[in-house]
Amino acid sequence: MVLAEMISGGDMPGSASNRGDGTPVRIVGTRINGGMAIGRARLHRPRIVIRRVVAEDPEDESRRLDSALAAMHEALGRLVESAAMAVAGEHREVLETYRMIASDAGWIGRIREAIFGGLTAEAALQRVRDDTRARMAGVEDPYIRERLADFEDVALRLMQHLSPESAPGDDVEPEGDWILIARSLGPAEILDYDQTRLKGLVLEEGSATAHVAIVARALDIPVVGRLPNLLGEVEPGDTLIVDGDHAQVFVRPGEDARSLFRTSMAARAAQRARYAALRDRPAVSPDGVALSLQMNAGLLVDVAQMAEVGADGIGLYRTEIPFLVRREYPDVDAQTLLYRRVLATANGRPVTFRTLDAGGDKRLPSIVHEPEENPALGWRALRIGLDVPSLLRQQMRALIRAADGRPLRVMVPMVTTVQEFRAARSLLDLELERARSRSVTLPQSVAVGAMVEVPAVVLAIEALAREADFLSVGSNDLHQFLYAADRGGERVATRYDTLDPLFLGVLTRIAQAAAAAGKPVTVCGEMAGRPLEALVLAALGYRALSMSAISVGPVKEAVLSTNIKQLATYVEYLIKSPSSNLRNQLKNFLIERGETGRENPAVIVDSH
Ligand code: PEP
Ligand code: MG
Repeated sequence: MVLAEMISGGDMPGSASNRGDGTPVRIVGTRINGGMAIGRARLHRPRIVIRRVVAEDPEDESRRLDSALAAMHEALGRLVESAAMAVAGEHREVLETYRMIASDAGWIGRIREAIFGGLTAEAALQRVRDDTRARMAGVEDPYIRERLADFEDVALRLMQHLSPESAPGDDVEPEGDWILIARSLGPAEILDYDQTRLKGLVLEEGSATAHVAIVARALDIPVVGRLPNLLGEVEPGDTLIVDGDHAQVFVRPGEDARSLFRTSMAARAAQRARYAALRDRPAVSPDGVALSLQMNAGLLVDVAQMAEVGADGIGLYRTEIPFLVRREYPDVDAQTLLYRRVLATANGRPVTFRTLDAGGDKRLPSIVHEPEENPALGWRALRIGLDVPSLLRQQMRALIRAADGRPLRVMVPMVTTVQEFRAARSLLDLELERARSRSVTLPQSVAVGAMVEVPAVVLAIEALAREADFLSVGSNDLHQFLYAADRGGERVATRYDTLDPLFLGVLTRIAQAAAAAGKPVTVCGEMAGRPLEALVLAALGYRALSMSAISVGPVKEAVLSTNIKQLATYVEYLIKSPSSNLRNQLKNFLIERGETGRENPAVIVDSH
């Protein structure tokens, strides 16, 4: 019964509303990159044909393997250097990682072992590839699965260098624009396709942390993943609509889906034009409340969007994101280079670097994470930094060097007690001392902030506000911990509203503590990027919000058309006499005032 209910309610991931040959089908998967595109399906399904399995001379086969490896490295090198790669740093980084995989001694050793067991180089490679696949099937950890998928990608490339005739045979190039469909795809493979015609990507596997997702994002290609039966549903040449925003794919769309697509594209274009027109306008409400709208970033491509969307700075730079794509932990030089590039791209606008927030859902390949029953509550973020101070000190050293005489803003995640914040700050002081003694140019100014995202520290917020130079509310984690509801858990994530009076009460207390101590406070969780929530935060007294780049336009539009002081009085009243649905009352209030609502659909749309 439950299953029947889920299917009829469309709750089953990957469920199709209408299956069948040649008929339109809608498949729902997981959002990997937003945006919309239409094009014809191009199948990425390399089929390898091995003609010779048993070798006569293993030495000869071993030499063939070496020259194929050399040719592959040369080709990868060209790809890294190619013009397409020059766009942004991460492309390059991802491919460098990928190149390292291709030099993996263990992997090459296993291939050679199979050669000396009597196989041809192709058959040996195929055997190792089969082993990897078998291992992949049993691995739960998404990161390890992705690394194994990288080996698969590299194996296919190597096979093509070993015997070009074994190369994919069924790759039909459809007319016009392409939507690439694949079981999984490596970051380098996506770049093998003509970028002017590749408009979208649909994967049977894949996740938001996959390397290919990072490259797709840099190329601005919508991607939907986790569609288990995709290749059974789609024929090459079929028309596909990829709706990355809603994680859905229309296969052979009927006229209704096509017209929906056209309407959405037109609306997107109109919206973009509206937001672009606001880019250089300061975010000041009609009754004179000025807000600083900043951006969250984790990759250089994000930072590069700052000027384009008109953000005042980077309110949250998640330093762990670039670490996620590296197998080795970056040393001080590598980190310095990276942070220098971030500051150069920011071009004088302030950047708040958050120290490593590893652990939880962000397991770094270069740090040993023991299995934990509750990773979100486990050994993560500042806890790792304080237990292994060299990690935190190296990061701070790199930040000091990268600042190179400019102002430096650092904040620490998951602060649970005031003592922890103090300990983190003293590590930075040690690094400043070290820099001074070595005549390294010191930052012009240093501001050390604390993230407020653990309920315990809210109970000590007045003391924390006195010690920290600024506060930044991580509302994603704060909400998750306060309501004991996994932020990523499909069934519970939206169960408790962020506009719940209790949560607003907690946010008010934080804002008041910051004001009393005379310290700036920002909200950098997802809620800051939703127009209605952003207005409410402004009403609670927050004057700086940090959000994803695409949210800056909608939030600015909402601020420009709302009397925030009036809203503040109403919010105060609502919190004191809470009813069951604050969200609706707030929306109605804004619509009735005729301020925001009607001309600003962003606020009316249920953004919860
Ligand atoms: C948060 O918790 O709200 C936050 C901004 O940090 P992250 O999403 O990286 O955990
Ligand atoms: Mg957090």
